[in-house]
Amino acid sequence: AKRSSSTCLSYASRKNLSEQVDQTYIMVKPDGVQRGLVGEIISRFERKGFKLTGLKLFQCPKELAEEHYKDLKGKPFYPTLIDYITSGPVVCMVWEGVGVVASARKLIGSTNPLQAEPGTIRGDLAVQTGRNVVHGSDSPENGRREAALWFKEGELCEWTPAQAPWLME
Ligand code: ADP
Repeated sequence: AKRSSSTCLSYASRKNLSEQVDQTYIMVKPDGVQRGLVGEIISRFERKGFKLTGLKLFQCPKELAEEHYKDLKGKPFYPTLIDYITSGPVVCMVWEGVGVVASARKLIGSTNPLQAEPGTIRGDLAVQTGRNVVHGSDSPENGRREAALWFKEGELCEWTPAQAPWLME
């Protein structure tokens, strides 16, 4: 009993050190939704052991797509990227955990699905950069920025998964 309570405690205290727990914004893009890949994609993050704190199906307005991709404004593919992201509903998610941003990028794979390793989401499920099924934040700063951009206050849940002590000692 002593051992299991200290395990829970160490998880709880780690959770409170917010500088160690990152947030990443993950989005199933419209092609992923249309192709029926929502469950498959969510499942990969869920099985890994990250914590889901936000989830919604959402039709993205043009202004939000432009804000999200503002760093790419001026790229030749920018107008078609905005059309693509706003072409149908997306599934918006926030996942949390230590090292979640970089790890989620590895699970997602390279931007160009033809170069993405087998076993990654894009490597397994997509063929073209302009239809690469999923987005993942590229830095902890952008993870927090994008989570706040796509979710309102109160839409994210703070909770402790029952499996927490079985994921982290
Ligand atoms: P990532 O999504 O892997 O972080 P980027 O930030 O470079 O990649 O680009 C954002 C998104 O813009 C890509 O996921 C893809 O949907 C689109 N994109 C990037 N490069 C191209 C391209 N050359 N042609 C079409 N779409 C592109």
